[in-house]
Amino acid sequence: MGSTPHGTYPGGVPLPTAPADDAAMARALELAAQAAAAGEIPVGAVVTDATGRVLGEGRNLREETADPTAHAEIVALREAAQAIGSWNLDDCTLTVTLEPCLMCAGAILQARAGRVVFGAWDEKAGAAGSVYDVLRDRRLPVRAEVVGGVREHEAQALLRAFFDARR
Ligand SMILES: [Zn+2]
Repeated sequence: MGSTPHGTYPGGVPLPTAPADDAAMARALELAAQAAAAGEIPVGAVVTDATGRVLGEGRNLREETADPTAHAEIVALREAAQAIGSWNLDDCTLTVTLEPCLMCAGAILQARAGRVVFGAWDEKAGAAGSVYDVLRDRRLPVRAEVVGGVREHEAQALLRAFFDARR
């Protein structure tokens, strides 16, 4: 963790974050902070369409709903699909504060979300480049573009503060 060389764009080249990605991440970070305040691991997610309009939002709800699948990404994907009346989110971007896990990477592909932007890398369970790279696995029929490490330090700081407080 920390200033890893892959905390940037593929190839390790640091590029400026697109304004729309930065705005979506700002909202996802707010949602993550709300999760922490509710006693949940702080992860927030936003689904936006090709114009940057927010279609769905989610934060981790696992404890409150006693639902093992209530990760921020799943909650946001469901809300976005309901909003447009279709499971197919192919022109959409999912922005999340933490690298998606295996379940969420699978759900992202099922939703056909074409882009994923995430904050902190999850070197223990990440499925978007850390442990697995499900979103860009050429063996699968669908893939997503991935941009990792966007406002990474803010996302990490929320997670660290949450786990430090629980020790
Ligand atoms: Zn997940």
